Amino acid sequence: MSPTATTPSTPASEALFSRARAVTPGGVNSPVRAFNAVGGTPRFIRSASGPWLTDVDGNEYVDLICSWGPMLLGHGHPAVLDAVREAVGRGTSYGTPTEGEVALVEAIVARTPVERLRLVSSGTEATMSAIRLARGFTGRDVVVKFAGCYHGHVDSLLASAGSGLTTFSIPGTPGVPASSTELTLVLPYNDREAVAAAFAEHGDRIACLITEAAPGNMGVVPPAPGFNRFLAETCRAHGALFISDEVMTGFRVSKAGQWGTDGAVEGWVPDLMTFGKVMGGGLPAAAFGGRADVMAHLAPEGPVYQAGTLAGNPVATAAGLATLTAATDEVYARLDVVADALRAGIADTFTAAGLPHVIQSTGSMFSVFLTDHPVTSFAEAQATSVPAYAALFHSMLDQGVHLPPSAFEAWFVSSSHDDRAVQQVLDALPAAARAAASRYTATRRPESE
Ligand SMILES: *Cc1c(COP(=O)(O)O)cnc(C)c1O
Repeated sequence: MSPTATTPSTPASEALFSRARAVTPGGVNSPVRAFNAVGGTPRFIRSASGPWLTDVDGNEYVDLICSWGPMLLGHGHPAVLDAVREAVGRGTSYGTPTEGEVALVEAIVARTPVERLRLVSSGTEATMSAIRLARGFTGRDVVVKFAGCYHGHVDSLLASAGSGLTTFSIPGTPGVPASSTELTLVLPYNDREAVAAAFAEHGDRIACLITEAAPGNMGVVPPAPGFNRFLAETCRAHGALFISDEVMTGFRVSKAGQWGTDGAVEGWVPDLMTFGKVMGGGLPAAAFGGRADVMAHLAPEGPVYQAGTLAGNPVATAAGLATLTAATDEVYARLDVVADALRAGIADTFTAAGLPHVIQSTGSMFSVFLTDHPVTSFAEAQATSVPAYAALFHSMLDQGVHLPPSAFEAWFVSSSHDDRAVQQVLDALPAAARAAASRYTATRRPESE
């Protein structure tokens, strides 16, 4: 579809959405897919190839979601498809150890500072298990996290800040009992003073601090220079474990994830790390790992229980290993070229349209916040123009570009985004910027807490 084509017609997506809503809450299996934040009918995708999505009505879109991160190489990469076909031909699950698991774990250990790794099936399981292990290892109960950092839907991490800075939190959703979050401290991101105050008051009870290595789940809000090192040092000083959640950034920001750009340069290592998304190559696989002495506390070697029927699934491990193997320096260079071209085009066209915007990145992951202030915390992310983003989203969608359907998400590119795909995005930007500018609502920068 050319960017000048008229609004795509979507009767098949509409029919499927109504069928879906009759049998599934909201018609989707993960909330953001329902388009609630932008309105309209979600596109039901029939197939995908390289950077292109094709919906059930036959409309084509340049994909800037990339499955929320996993599709580093684009859809249907030949090496990944071959590996999956080969694995499926040997059976799909045995419930016994396999060579593929060993090879994938070795590949991750080779790229990251983790010494031992355990495979699981989702990022949620990875963070949940890492926290259980940290509590088991330290014999302490309190967990520190940051507002706006998402670590999957783990009860104790679906928490909202309490009334004071160092007070314990309240459940972030119905269904989570207060007893599940009363040992969780939620702090403002990038706020060293809040971290120092929390450790000063509760340090001897804190089992671990968990953070996104570079937050992408409130939109991309990079750590201030030295912030992650400060967190690692603060944890160490108090005998707490530092858990760096690289489910989104791992193997995407660089071969060694976000850590490759900060810890590897500054000379510090997280006690535990979590991975997912890219390492599954589009199939369900995730992992947690870290210091050998900490991981030794995990069953069956140690007393902390953790398990999974499909953990290390042979098809998923094959897809993950093929993806990591194909993620060469050239792949990361191409991701940067694509992201740079898009960021430059966005900056030019949005400025020309008088649309206030801030583009924030870590590596090739970036977010476009429609606001006139930098975004360093969740409160600031929320103070951006949601109506303008919805207008931007729908204009881009009508012109054959599928952005994330929420103002608070990262935009993802793949190494398969070729010049034609990039050009289709660039061509769509001017009209979308004008549409967004007409819906822009000025927002005040929140007072810093
Ligand atoms: C996606 C994500 C998770 C959760 O992973 P799931 O596989 O969706 O359970 C956890 N942490 C971060 C940083 C993520 O981006």
